[in-house]
Amino acid sequence: MFDQKVVDFIIKGDTLKGVITQDGSKIEAAATILATGHSSRDIFYLLHEKNILIEAKPFALGVRAEHPQRLIDTAQYKCDTRGEYLPPASYSLVQQVYNIGVFSFCMCPGGIIAPAATGPNEIVVNGWSPSKRNNPYANSGIVVQVQLADVIKNSKSTDIDSLALLNFQQDVEQKAFESGGGSLKAPAQRMVDFCTNKFSSTLPDCSYLPGINSSDLSMVLPGFIHGALQKAFVEFGKKMKGYYTNEAILVATESRTSSPVRIPRDTATLQHPQIKNLYPCGEGAGYAGGIVSAAMDGERVARSIYQIIATN
Ligand SMILES: Cc1cc2nc3c(=O)[nH]c(=O)nc-3n(C[C@H](O)[C@H](O)[C@H](O)COP(=O)(O)OP(=O)(O)OC[C@H]3O[C@@H](n4cnc5c(N)ncnc54)[C@H](O)[C@@H]3O)c2cc1C
Repeated sequence: MFDQKVVDFIIKGDTLKGVITQDGSKIEAAATILATGHSSRDIFYLLHEKNILIEAKPFALGVRAEHPQRLIDTAQYKCDTRGEYLPPASYSLVQQVYNIGVFSFCMCPGGIIAPAATGPNEIVVNGWSPSKRNNPYANSGIVVQVQLADVIKNSKSTDIDSLALLNFQQDVEQKAFESGGGSLKAPAQRMVDFCTNKFSSTLPDCSYLPGINSSDLSMVLPGFIHGALQKAFVEFGKKMKGYYTNEAILVATESRTSSPVRIPRDTATLQHPQIKNLYPCGEGAGYAGGIVSAAMDGERVARSIYQIIATN
């Protein structure tokens, strides 16, 4: 029963009575915790279709930058070779460009760039480090804040609603798919070439296993994101010697940093303001970012449900 996808809600009046799963089963419950993550687009579409209040939520989007780990070690430890007792170095960078924040996200020393799309015809990348952090590469998301106002300003469409940022995110992911060549290959460009608008005639080795395709990333990223990243990489090179280099590669697109949608909830009961017994929770609902905060939000919601049920 629990490996079945939820495909519909059972709602009577203003109260959620339970859910319907893919195989048609009805599961009734006194409380339903909706913690389906930031990539469960079908759930966001379902809420939208049922006129259950959701809101566009700012998130961040950009690329994953990968350097040889030895370059990051040299920049951070200020020595030619990292000694055997030093761990692979990490970094954290942030820059304001025209009042837009650009920052490193989920930096993975000795790590691997991984495919993270959840649907067809999209390219999404993410990163992770094995416990020994012994891969020869250092990768990090380098992402730009995306506010609804930026998307409205840069959009030709007048159809702006609570799914506007989700649609914006998906559009970039689909462009990355086309630019990658229509398979799991990701579009990529060397860092200095990216910043100086040059096509990369060759690409360095990369940890992304499905492969990369040399591309003009200005065709993938919206102009305000591309421009902010170009400026930020140059500034990062001033802050961290050796960072701004054509030995580094940028792989698109890092787009699942957090949820582009918020599911509102009452601050006291944690229930949805319109639908009783519905408890939005975790990263997908917009109340967490990362494993620990998502787990803590789950605990918080469980306590709230216990208190409500115990006092009724
Ligand atoms: C490659 C990678 C590396 C990461 N590394 C880190 C890290 O080092 N540290 C860190 O803090 N975070 C990391 N994260 C992010 C972290 O995984 C998330 O922040 C966290 O898992 C969010 O927890 P959540 O419970 O809100 O959602 P999720 O963990 O996404 O859980 C949502 C669950 O809901 C299920 N679901 C979706 N739709 C439906 C449906 N319709 N019906 C039923 N079930 C559904 C999904 O299958 C999933 O099991 C990483 C993510 C990735 C992809």
